[in-house]
Amino acid sequence: MAKEQTLILIKPDGSKRRLTGLVIDRLDASGLALVGAKVVPVSEDLAKKHYRDHVGKHFFDNLIRYIRGEFHAIPRSRILALVYEGENAVAVARRVAGATDPEKAEPGTLRGSFGRNTKDGQIENVLHASGSPAEASYEVGLWFRPDELVGS
Ligand code: GDP
Ligand code: MG
Repeated sequence: MAKEQTLILIKPDGSKRRLTGLVIDRLDASGLALVGAKVVPVSEDLAKKHYRDHVGKHFFDNLIRYIRGEFHAIPRSRILALVYEGENAVAVARRVAGATDPEKAEPGTLRGSFGRNTKDGQIENVLHASGSPAEASYEVGLWFRPDELVGS
């Protein structure tokens, strides 16, 4: 099995609802190793690069506003970014997170337990977890410099 890295972001709803510790606890219990962590001010440019695959979709503009904390009054668009490492880290973290839509996410997953769909059609799903190994390597490189990671 391949050792991978994966990017996790505590999204503004997760931060606002004080779920940061819980997310870290669940990922810790999954057996993955935390190899990078920092608080990042999410510029519009960074947000758009992070969500480049969603450019042009109907929810794109609100997604950028959401991740920049505009719906949760997050000061300076700050977000906690984490990198985890381990065997199949991408799939392991996705399992902990649960499906994108909180209503379809397995009960007991972070999104299944704590995510919600707002009446305005916004998906608030607590955390970002890279969707594939290729996406993970792009995202880890986008958010972190190599010298900020302490992998094995
Ligand atoms: P993820 O990898 O599970 O986060 O899901 P995607 O990569 O498909 O989408 C990225 C993010 O965009 C999701 O986590 C949601 O915050 C948001 N999103 C995805 N699909 C929709 C949608 O149909 N409507 C809205 N409002 N947001 C969406
Ligand atoms: Mg995705």
